[in-house]
Amino acid sequence: MTAERVAQMAKIIDGKAISTQIRAELRDEISKMSTKPGLAVILVGDDMASHTYVRNKKAACEEVGMYSEVHMLPATATQDELLELVDKLNRDDKIHGILAQLPLPAHLDEAIVIDNIDPAKDVDCFHPYNVGKLMIGDPVFLPCTPAGIMKLLERSGIDVAGKRCVVVGRSNIVGKPMAMMLLQANGTVTVCHSKTQNLADECRQAEILVSAVGRAKFITADMVSPGAVVIDVGMNRDRDGKLCGDVDFAGVEPKASHITPVPGGVGPMTITMLLSNTLTAAKLRI
Ligand code: NAP
Repeated sequence: MTAERVAQMAKIIDGKAISTQIRAELRDEISKMSTKPGLAVILVGDDMASHTYVRNKKAACEEVGMYSEVHMLPATATQDELLELVDKLNRDDKIHGILAQLPLPAHLDEAIVIDNIDPAKDVDCFHPYNVGKLMIGDPVFLPCTPAGIMKLLERSGIDVAGKRCVVVGRSNIVGKPMAMMLLQANGTVTVCHSKTQNLADECRQAEILVSAVGRAKFITADMVSPGAVVIDVGMNRDRDGKLCGDVDFAGVEPKASHITPVPGGVGPMTITMLLSNTLTAAKLRI
């Protein structure tokens, strides 16, 4: 590799390493607590991906010394049965954080389930109360994926203040809270979506570009301005079935100043931020 090429390469933001570092800090703090933070995860049905996510969440709790419970309900569970379980966990003093693994089977109403989780235990930050708190700049919890991205930026020495930030995607889980958090960090934020005109022009304005679309190789080199920080939230499969992000990494990486890989970028941070929120919830109660 030539010296010129080395000078041009983006700094890879290593989400795995930063996540390991934060988990060690959480483990250290939890080891000093007399009451361990407790997380309850509700899993309804047989979705394979959901089972894997829940297993990973349980293992992550163990890694940092948290107490965890997984409550499995059959795919035929009724809304009342699910709400009864939520109510029981709301009243359980061992449990500081509750999350219902989404998606729920189609006959169950996700919004009603989220509304019934005690906002003080809503560690996914999906409850309208917590979404509102985030909106007014007084958050209790931070939504896990965007919070993970803010940590990646912070620990990579990237200051958001005054920067032009473009978020592609406006979902309630990623795009919208991401835009709000960048705004609260004093970025100048544009949010793009499927009806945006001239998306490439909008993206080229970005000093910090966050893509949360869900399409492989969607962000190409011509959409990125030289020196931009590129954060890839996407978790997609390419033609060979390999995990990949939204960003055409090979094309974009030489142009960016910093870039997150997939896998190993944003992904590892999401569960770590869930652990962090559960610790916050426990500290509010203990
Ligand atoms: P989503 O709810 O499907 O939202 C996708 C967003 O992309 C929508 O706002 C949509 O616009 C926008 N979009 C779609 N096509 C577009 C186009 N041609 N041009 C511009 N915008 C377009 O997805 P999500 O839940 O936010 O997730 C996005 C991706 O992130 C997925 O790959 C998901 O797997 C991944 N993800 C990763 C993590 C992690 O921990 N790494 C966590 C969550 C999600 P409209 O609103 O106009 O439809």
